[in-house]
Amino acid sequence: MDQPLFVIRGMFAHSTIENPLIVLADHIIGVSNGKIVFFDQADQLDKHLQPFGGRSKVSLTELKRGQFVIPGFIDTHIHAPQYPNSGKGLDLGLLEWLEKYTFPTEAKFKDLEFAEHVYEKAVRRVLRNGTTTACYYGTIHTDACMKLCDIIDKYGQRAFVGKVNMNQNSPEYYIETAEESTSETERFVDSVLERKNQRIQPIITPRFAASCDDKLMNSLAKLAHDKGLHIQTHISETKDEVAWIGNLFPDHDHYVDVYDKAGLLSKRTVLAHGIYLTTEERKIVKDRECGISHCPNSNTSIRSGTCDVKQLLDEGIKVGLGTDCSGGYSTSMNDAMRCCLHVSNFHAIHTEKIHISHREAFMMATLGGAQVLDIADRIGNFEVGKAFDALVIDVTKEGSQIDIFENDTIDDILQKFIYLGNEHNFTRIYVDGADVLPMLLKGSQKS
Ligand SMILES: [Zn+2]
Repeated sequence: MDQPLFVIRGMFAHSTIENPLIVLADHIIGVSNGKIVFFDQADQLDKHLQPFGGRSKVSLTELKRGQFVIPGFIDTHIHAPQYPNSGKGLDLGLLEWLEKYTFPTEAKFKDLEFAEHVYEKAVRRVLRNGTTTACYYGTIHTDACMKLCDIIDKYGQRAFVGKVNMNQNSPEYYIETAEESTSETERFVDSVLERKNQRIQPIITPRFAASCDDKLMNSLAKLAHDKGLHIQTHISETKDEVAWIGNLFPDHDHYVDVYDKAGLLSKRTVLAHGIYLTTEERKIVKDRECGISHCPNSNTSIRSGTCDVKQLLDEGIKVGLGTDCSGGYSTSMNDAMRCCLHVSNFHAIHTEKIHISHREAFMMATLGGAQVLDIADRIGNFEVGKAFDALVIDVTKEGSQIDIFENDTIDDILQKFIYLGNEHNFTRIYVDGADVLPMLLKGSQKS
């Protein structure tokens, strides 16, 4: 049945392919059946309402100064099972951190009650932070990953969910055989696809090259190819890791070549980090149309390195932002934008190269993320025909860190939101045209 049209009038900000940040005063957006049916200047309202029976037939929300609409945030790399460790253990080095915190926590997801308990909290927090689309890693446990899908569905988020694959160089209490890993991945993929939920898609998730042998990577690539699935993995996160991959795969030219020869690189592949990619590797990443998930909080918190994100963008590589919970301590995309700016600034300070601005950070948190996930034809900005995944922001709300002054322009207000915004500023969180915030605030969380 057709859902009635609703219209929001006021200030909007979004990115386009040509322009990383466009801030618009007094515009209107019309949404029907979850899709954007018009987006125009406010003085065109009556023209757009004619086919719908005029003003009396629609619900019109008029925003005040300090309120505006942006596309929902897209987190291109987040480990849902690591959420309990957010803000813990970051004084340790990467390997110690994995052994002491990450692997023991992920192993616990064999227990479905534990999985449900954590995933409830994780999904609610991520969605409350305005992340309308998340690309999640689960664990190696198929049933726990299905539980994650259940909870994402309950709260109305859009997501990719990956059952993690790891059959070598992993602790003996948290590892699978190549055969188990492949058959369980097939079971997971089929279970998710059977639900025919357009919002939740499976994603093939070899943890990273060191934890999967060639045989497993080949079979996962075949599965992705046969079923047209997305793929996510880690690449070139630390210098030690790059050297280790070189030793593990001596017959390959470099890290990218390991994934390329396995058949894992396509326009639907999300590569997290990519800090130390060489010119040759970046060229292959671009040629295969893979996306990079830049995770600046994580890269700083566990001291992996400073990614030259400006270079990736300038070379025409698709780049989105990832929170990489819990290597990154925050699941907030506002935090990811700020960390991205800081990392780019530090890189510029040390190399005298050019840094990015808040405009590119905003683009990477929205449209860039949609490009990385190869769904920019469906979400990411306010083009007519796309799904209405959006955040209504109010910088004047209780709990806001933002004050606006008489001489602040709409560009200033938007920039203040990027630097100072938090979840208290989100008054509506739309996914597919439905406001999911009331459900989140209902307090149905199990403790
Ligand atoms: Zn990660």
